[in-house]
Amino acid sequence: MGEKRIIYMDHSATTYVRQEVVDAMAPYHTENFGNPSSIYRIARASKKAIDTARAQVAQALGADADEIYFTSGGSESDNWAIKGIASANIRKGSHIITSQIEHHAVIHTCQYLEKEGFTVTYLPVDRYGLVDPADLEKAITDKTILISIMYANNEIGTIEPIAELGAIARNHKIPFHTDAVQAVGNVPIDVNAQNIDLLSLSAHKFYGPKGVGVLYIRKGTKIDNLIHGGGQERRRRAGTENIAGIVGLGKAIELATADIEGHNKKIQAMRDRLQKGIIATIPSTHLNGHPEKRLPGNINISFEFIEGESMLLWLDDEGICASTGSACTSGSLEPSHVLLATGLPVEISHGSLRLTLGNINTDADVDFVLEVLPKVVTRLRDMSPLYKKSGKDGGCNVQ
Ligand SMILES: *Cc1c(COP(=O)(O)O)cnc(C)c1O
Repeated sequence: MGEKRIIYMDHSATTYVRQEVVDAMAPYHTENFGNPSSIYRIARASKKAIDTARAQVAQALGADADEIYFTSGGSESDNWAIKGIASANIRKGSHIITSQIEHHAVIHTCQYLEKEGFTVTYLPVDRYGLVDPADLEKAITDKTILISIMYANNEIGTIEPIAELGAIARNHKIPFHTDAVQAVGNVPIDVNAQNIDLLSLSAHKFYGPKGVGVLYIRKGTKIDNLIHGGGQERRRRAGTENIAGIVGLGKAIELATADIEGHNKKIQAMRDRLQKGIIATIPSTHLNGHPEKRLPGNINISFEFIEGESMLLWLDDEGICASTGSACTSGSLEPSHVLLATGLPVEISHGSLRLTLGNINTDADVDFVLEVLPKVVTRLRDMSPLYKKSGKDGGCNVQ
């Protein structure tokens, strides 16, 4: 028997590392392993490689190189932005504004700060997952010290009106942070044009390595350190640099932002065909997220009368990697906070499937999912007493 084919449609959870990125990283594990803080030649090589990566990130964001700080990933960057701004501005106020659909790295950090005495406003979203800029304007008080709204949602793919939200923050002279972990490589980013003061990103979401990310901090922003220790990253983020990871992040962001339009066109065509096919062949479905303002590879769809986890197991059996709700909530029985915030009823939230396409997917992958998924849904619905009771099964299975 041959190896089972794997169809990977979970690129919002993580991506493979591109070969060019692996190749760029390799010498920094073996020959150029020196500590960049040392003065001999192999250490100078590491330092130079970090400078190059910093310039690559700055170029991708329209930022200056000295506004780029390397971290251990998206979660650390989010924690640093929020806790760092909160503690540095405590004398000014203790009010933070974010949204109800943020990643847990933002939501749980805000909840932690609430326990420490901060007040947090979680802005609602409409049924597509969009934050209304008018709601932001209304929520601002003279005690507001931070606004943090994600660029693109990891579950439903909705892309927020970042430039507009940023402009409101700018008018009120409040620092504006965006978790752009899902946006990099899918949406063109310009921190100046979009009024962004702090931005989080993570390499493993755009074909780079895991465990390395960036926090962009606009010059002049008042922020405390999160990780204390040595003087790395211009005394703002301690710890011997993850040189190979940083080199990989630099190469990956350069490749991911070189041809966003071409990348999107290819992935969106496959996504659209898959989405249309699912909706045409499977009844009682709901498309979650915004129909247009959405990440090019994202499909989030709910199937009535189905439990997402069981759908994933059946798909896994066929070699299809997908996710239900958020990758992080998979395994718990709580419905996705994102889907609930869009007003989707709890029962329907439980039957959601997220397929996120990336650059390894092919038309044959789409064909295969279109062949397998309707069978899986039918099989699961046939086992569901609720489905039978609903009469939506056409009465064929009434017992
Ligand atoms: C993946 C993700 C994170 C966390 O990034 P890590 O590098 O895995 O810590 C944060 N925010 C969003 C929107 C994400 O998709």
